[in-house]
Amino acid sequence: MQYFPLFFDLRSQKVLIVGGGEVALRKAALLGRAGAAITLVAPHVVPELEAHAATGGLEIVRREFVPEDLAGVRLAIVATGRRASNRWIASLCEARAIPVNVVDDRDASRVIVPAIVDRDPVLIAISSAGASPVLARRWRERLEALVPARIGELALWLRDLRPPSRRRLRGTAERRRYFETLVDGPAAERFVAGDVRGAERLAQRLLGTGGAGAPATGHVALVGAGPGDPELLTLKALRALSDADVILHDRLVSDAVLELARRDAVKICVGKSPGGAGTTQQWINDRLVEHARAGRRVVRLKGGDPFVFGRGGEELEALARAGIAYSVIPGITAASACAAYAGIPLTHRDHAQSVCLVTGHAGEDGREPDWRALAADRTTVVFYMGLTRLERIVARLTEHGAPPDRPAALIAQGTLPNQRVVLGTLASIVASARSQGIESPALLVVGEVAALHAELAWFGGNAATTVSEIA
Ligand code: SAH
Repeated sequence: MQYFPLFFDLRSQKVLIVGGGEVALRKAALLGRAGAAITLVAPHVVPELEAHAATGGLEIVRREFVPEDLAGVRLAIVATGRRASNRWIASLCEARAIPVNVVDDRDASRVIVPAIVDRDPVLIAISSAGASPVLARRWRERLEALVPARIGELALWLRDLRPPSRRRLRGTAERRRYFETLVDGPAAERFVAGDVRGAERLAQRLLGTGGAGAPATGHVALVGAGPGDPELLTLKALRALSDADVILHDRLVSDAVLELARRDAVKICVGKSPGGAGTTQQWINDRLVEHARAGRRVVRLKGGDPFVFGRGGEELEALARAGIAYSVIPGITAASACAAYAGIPLTHRDHAQSVCLVTGHAGEDGREPDWRALAADRTTVVFYMGLTRLERIVARLTEHGAPPDRPAALIAQGTLPNQRVVLGTLASIVASARSQGIESPALLVVGEVAALHAELAWFGGNAATTVSEIA
């Protein structure tokens, strides 16, 4: 190991920065956050540094560096942009045993500055000992996405729980178990999800029961996986996937999304094919309860958003009845995602003042939607699961007053590399869908805005696969 990792308490300590450019500015900003008393020596400085100096904690000395500047310095950062000067200053620091970092010159540096994920007071520092700064930076970005935004606040919350735990729990082993249960269990999960009061309640209850609590309690996260493109996952969904013990997913969830899950998580496909047989809802509900009762972290992963035609509500009702802890992580629903990737704005000042999301199965069980409202002008109607009922949908809309030339678009495999868009009108869309061999999953968008696809399409090579009857 060439470098010894440590965190340096620099509050009110004298730090010297030599140089007045952009790099010096970045270092000054970070050192400022650490509460250092910074002296910056340079004949010229960028204007942002002057602004920074005006807010305190930074003194600018406008001249060339002189060796006397090193008196009383606890750390020196050298960034003059001139290699020879940098090295001379570094050698002076070495002679005085002052830790020195020369920007972009590892050989002349005694200390190097890591890439960091900053969730103050939690800090993750990454270094490749200069072997590959790009690699270190990439890992920093990955960790940035994985580490909860609120982990710093979580640390502070746990710190504040230390005095009460000392009063209520006697032994150190007991206290350690208490904090392990908090950190590994639903309390920390709730805190990180933003439910501070829920977390507080669990922490207090645990204190009352002697700290160890019941054996691991399971938890179900109902997670929206978005429409297919894995990059449309939320950061929370990504984290739930990397923490999961068991994942029950729909058929619609793409392989690319599942690849982001923890390697040793058990993945169970519980998909129902449209109109076809599949796993029953009751069976799914039972598995969710069963795995959670066994103390596992369960992710119930659904295409799009779990609360939009995802039967998320029914599953939560089953969990609530069984007394299982759960949370919901929303996803990007097919309507927003497909519309975005097809260049079809769902609302538009000139064309549509409202959007309606409707199931294509509407009316099957005798509960008809308000077709007159769906057929009205200046509204966009998005039908999910509408492909097999396309003819019926078009017929109902036209019966209720929608003009046959109203634009309509079918978006199939939206956001995926094989996305296809068929643009037509209510009069033509059924025939076009057939002749193009459009397959599920597909979304039907009806309204003036659909026509904008012809002008605004941007994703993939789909302009070539687009069939347009609108001149
Ligand atoms: N909860 C999901 C919807 C589930 S219903 C969501 O919020 O998106 C399934 C229907 O969603 C499909 O029949 C289709 O109409 C639509 N759908 C889902 N993903 C799609 C995709 N990638 N492209 C087109 N339509 C999609």
